[in-house]
Amino acid sequence: MKALVITEGADAARELAAGARTLADEVVLVSFAEAPEGVADKVACIAVPEGSIVDDAADTVISLFDAEQPGIVLVEPTRRMKSIAGRLAAHAGTAVITDVMSFEGGGAKSLYFGGVGERVQKACGGVAIYTVGAGTFAEAQPSGANTVLNIAWVTPAHPVELVDRKPIQKSGVDLFKADAVVAAGRGFAEEADLDLARALVEKIGGGLACSRPLTEGVNWLPTETYVGVSGLMLSPKVYVAAGISGQMQHMVGCNRASTLFAINKDKNAPVFKQCDYGLVGDVKEVIPALVAAL
Ligand SMILES: Cc1cc2nc3c(=O)[nH]c(=O)nc-3n(C[C@H](O)[C@H](O)[C@H](O)COP(=O)(O)OP(=O)(O)OC[C@H]3O[C@@H](n4cnc5c(N)ncnc54)[C@H](O)[C@@H]3O)c2cc1C
Repeated sequence: MKALVITEGADAARELAAGARTLADEVVLVSFAEAPEGVADKVACIAVPEGSIVDDAADTVISLFDAEQPGIVLVEPTRRMKSIAGRLAAHAGTAVITDVMSFEGGGAKSLYFGGVGERVQKACGGVAIYTVGAGTFAEAQPSGANTVLNIAWVTPAHPVELVDRKPIQKSGVDLFKADAVVAAGRGFAEEADLDLARALVEKIGGGLACSRPLTEGVNWLPTETYVGVSGLMLSPKVYVAAGISGQMQHMVGCNRASTLFAINKDKNAPVFKQCDYGLVGDVKEVIPALVAAL
């Protein structure tokens, strides 16, 4: 069987191509960035023309899909790649199985009901399309000659015109790669209190994340730093949930951390049933004491 891998980031290209190798005999990579060396049998790099957007590459990807006829498609779960996956699935007459965490027994496992349960789904029909989260194939080793496939841009019938572009504020640290993550929640009463969390981040070396209300509610931190079912799904070595109650929508984004610490002034907060170590106390007292002790 042949696998098609569709990615926009080099890390995802490496991991998903390696994972595809465990599921298929031949791996074809479609990349919107420079492809890493030696990860696939064939590599097609798509250059998006000036004035076009990546989502409009769907027809170009479809032309490659038709030429290669893969039995399985693995897609990096970014918004743009998911948009392409949906249109590819419509073209192929199939569905997309999203946010896969592992493949077992011919099925794909993912969370559902906001993380309350897990389900295993199996694609019916000739082709299976999955969006696959980071870490699913962390152990797999990529290989391949990276033979270059030249692919012509196919202008869509109804393209989107790019009218403006502006940079968004970045947190500075790639939270997916950080070994330690300190996440702040609504237990931080004022924006200035976040400096306490920043001091802890600096001490243990890592990144600052948060619960959703600190982004969408008050805009204290960038949207790209909130963790949970509709935000980032992280699996760092250490995760410190500070002033976070432990609602399931947040915890599904961090419960794969190797060690989970919680700081909360309410000893009955649900987070204490889900952490490895819990500190009952006010973030304003506990964090400075922790920083001093460290
Ligand atoms: C469809 C849907 C999707 C969602 N997706 C996400 C998501 O992806 N990520 C996410 O985070 N949320 C998400 N939410 C929101 C989620 O349900 C919770 O509302 C949110 O996670 C709560 O954030 P919090 O823990 O910071 O705040 P709260 O629940 O208000 O908890 C604050 C905690 O801080 C403690 N506290 C207060 N003061 C202090 C202090 N001085 N020192 C120590 N502790 C203190 C309190 O005891 C409390 O436990 C989603 C909700 C819905 C409906």
